[in-house]
Amino acid sequence: MSRSITHRYVDPLAQIWLDCAARIGLRVVRSPDAYAATDGAGTMTIATDDALDADDSLAQMIFHELCHSLTQGEDAFRQPDWGLDNETDRDAWREHGCLRAQAVLAGRYGLRRFFAPTTDYRAAFWDRLPADPLADRGDPSTALAIAAIRRAARPPWAPALEEALERTAAVAAAVGAARVPAGELPSLWTLLDPRPAPHPTGLPAGVPGADDGRTCGDCAWRVDARGAARCRQADAPGTPGRPGKIDPAWRGCERWEPALDCQTCGACCREAYHAVEVSPRDPAVKAQPGYVVARDGGGLELRRAGDRCAALGGGEVVDGRVTRYGCVIYDDRPRTCRDFTLGSDHCLTARRRVGLSL
Ligand code: SF4
Ligand code: SF4
Repeated sequence: MSRSITHRYVDPLAQIWLDCAARIGLRVVRSPDAYAATDGAGTMTIATDDALDADDSLAQMIFHELCHSLTQGEDAFRQPDWGLDNETDRDAWREHGCLRAQAVLAGRYGLRRFFAPTTDYRAAFWDRLPADPLADRGDPSTALAIAAIRRAARPPWAPALEEALERTAAVAAAVGAARVPAGELPSLWTLLDPRPAPHPTGLPAGVPGADDGRTCGDCAWRVDARGAARCRQADAPGTPGRPGKIDPAWRGCERWEPALDCQTCGACCREAYHAVEVSPRDPAVKAQPGYVVARDGGGLELRRAGDRCAALGGGEVVDGRVTRYGCVIYDDRPRTCRDFTLGSDHCLTARRRVGLSL
């Protein structure tokens, strides 16, 4: 009498990531006809195992595609291939944003090397990323990554994505301890990195390897208030119970930022704020009449050019870099601009609104 088979073996990570994709709203099918694709109608196609390299895993490929969805936003679920053009270089910067986000999210769990992408194109960029994948705010793909990382904290990605990463790290910790026969390629499972220690504020821990002396004391988000050093990220509305009080000697968290530089930012003059009021008595009215216009509902304001102040120069993307910003009427700028303080709460809010700060 033959035995009846009631269960089947499933690769643990495949089970974790297929479940993650399903919870986020995606059905995964395998096909020899595609490497990785989505149809915009809820199906993700991933190549069959025989078409994959030895260091490919279904888990990493699903994770990478989910990072594309994070980078492209909710609407991308309704577009084939997340709305990306895979034939030309048009969306190369979006791939870069995806990889930056993938590195940060995987790094939180010690999985950055384990969950490295594997195609030559992706790997070349990945291998050049610094320890902190968000350090280069002058590359437009960094703002995409910041937006992606924020999205990961909300549905449909949360909590499924974080739980899948957590489970992956647990499996990797258990499997990595087992040896593989000598003479074969080392196992991917040996690439688990130590997990960064939690930050005392409850904010995500500092990026592994990006030590370079980063402390809360020299972070742009630190402020001295009520007789103590405080963190405006940990104090932020919507994060009740977080201890905003900090010790300046603490190692910086994932959101650490160095001293700010207006010429690489321009946030307050861009879409972060919709209008700059001008008083009728402001010298700018006479000195720069071409930039001052009547405001709907009365009063005056600076003229807009698209979603930014018409007097803001710079900010074009040239050779993959955002050029430096500058005010073309700086010496005559109105009082509202003069009173806007670098490093103030409004300044940091503006940076978050344009995606320059987490
Ligand atoms: S945002 Fe800055 S001040 Fe706040 S916890 Fe992180 S490193 Fe410290
Ligand atoms: S938002 Fe802050 S850092 Fe950015 S340009 Fe304005 S004042 Fe400068």
